[in-house]
Amino acid sequence: MAALTLARAGARVAVLEQQTIGWGASSRNGGMVSPGLKLATRKLFKQFDAELARELWQTSLDAIELIDELVRNEGIDCNWQRDGHLHLASKEAHFEAMRDNAAWFRDALGHTLRVVPSAELRSEIGTDKYFGGVIDDVSGALQPAKYVAGLAKAAAVAGVRLMEQCEVMHVARDRDTFQVTTTRGLLRAGDVIVATNGYTGQLLPELQRRVVPAGSYIIVTGPLHPDAQREISPSGRMFYDSKWFLNYFRLTPDGRMLWGGRNSLMPDADAIQSAQALRRQMVRVFPQLAEVPLTHSWSGRLGLTFDMLPHIGRIDGVHYALGYNGHGVSIATYLGREIGLLLSGAKSRSPFMDIPHPTRFFYDGQPWFLPLAARYFQARDLVS
Ligand SMILES: Cc1cc2nc3c(=O)[nH]c(=O)nc-3n(C[C@H](O)[C@H](O)[C@H](O)COP(=O)(O)OP(=O)(O)OC[C@H]3O[C@@H](n4cnc5c(N)ncnc54)[C@H](O)[C@@H]3O)c2cc1C
Repeated sequence: MAALTLARAGARVAVLEQQTIGWGASSRNGGMVSPGLKLATRKLFKQFDAELARELWQTSLDAIELIDELVRNEGIDCNWQRDGHLHLASKEAHFEAMRDNAAWFRDALGHTLRVVPSAELRSEIGTDKYFGGVIDDVSGALQPAKYVAGLAKAAAVAGVRLMEQCEVMHVARDRDTFQVTTTRGLLRAGDVIVATNGYTGQLLPELQRRVVPAGSYIIVTGPLHPDAQREISPSGRMFYDSKWFLNYFRLTPDGRMLWGGRNSLMPDADAIQSAQALRRQMVRVFPQLAEVPLTHSWSGRLGLTFDMLPHIGRIDGVHYALGYNGHGVSIATYLGREIGLLLSGAKSRSPFMDIPHPTRFFYDGQPWFLPLAARYFQARDLVS
């Protein structure tokens, strides 16, 4: 998106990707697009002044409209549908908090969240495992590999050079330009944007210390009988639950269950073992899927930040945009446009560059603490 924005503004742009375009999280995510950032919106208002918090919230809505606009204007065929999402309470207390939250969203932001008590849940989802939920009609879903391919095509048509199997090994400042060393040769550039999110390596050690790679895992079943589809998801919504180790799931346009989550935060769990664990979680919620075969299991890397917020920044003159914390389909698109507008001079500021981008003294780029963090979140799921 950054490349497309810059190319349309008249710049000569190349995207350098170590694998194939979209190979990272962008082609393998759950395709769920919802308002807000990973940090809860009410916490934004506690952490920042009201004006900045409101601006950050509004960007999350604008980011969804941006997808709408791109799909329409660039003709991206990616099964984009706006059927809303249902946030499900895994415990009774979570439902009370959701109800309170819905009132806060209405009063503070004028944003409607529809509360669904447990007695009415069956009209939304084919399980009795939850204690109620809230619906946000603004949300949508897409097929991520088709979406990122559509963006790449638009960028290529706008004149962007897409360089695959082209790992960036080193970026060195050379007066007013940068010398970029890649596995396919040297390149000179006036500006460099790093957008490596959960795949951030040692290119900029100060950046690596600010983003933690964590794993997220997905399974997909074979196509379900149309009756089962209607029972499981009568309104075709996306679902996610209220646990720290949350599950996110939806039916795909061809009627399969796509079920995502994690057991640990480690990025490299075995695909068969993670599939077995995810399947157990799925069958606990939908016993009717016990006999349905799985056809796919995969994983990808999220880019976590210590403040659970995405950031635009600059280190040694090199620009970056990352840190989507598992909520990047719309937000990464938005920050891509934002950084493109900043570099082309069409904008002079972004709220994402106004917030400090923290690291921790104990993190040098090796996420040794992920197993401990996973235990901590599992314990919180038990008690809270
Ligand atoms: C399993 C999974 C499910 C998810 N589900 C959702 C969801 O439902 N909704 C949602 O909003 N978000 C979701 N996310 C998060 C979302 O996918 C990401 O936030 C978003 O795709 C990040 O986009 P990006 O372009 O910043 O990074 P990525 O798409 O991860 O791209 C980074 C790229 O950088 C490349 N790279 C790294 N280092 C170098 C180098 N030195 N040289 C060249 N190339 C390099 C990598 O190969 C990679 O392709 C999910 C993520 C995962 C992994």
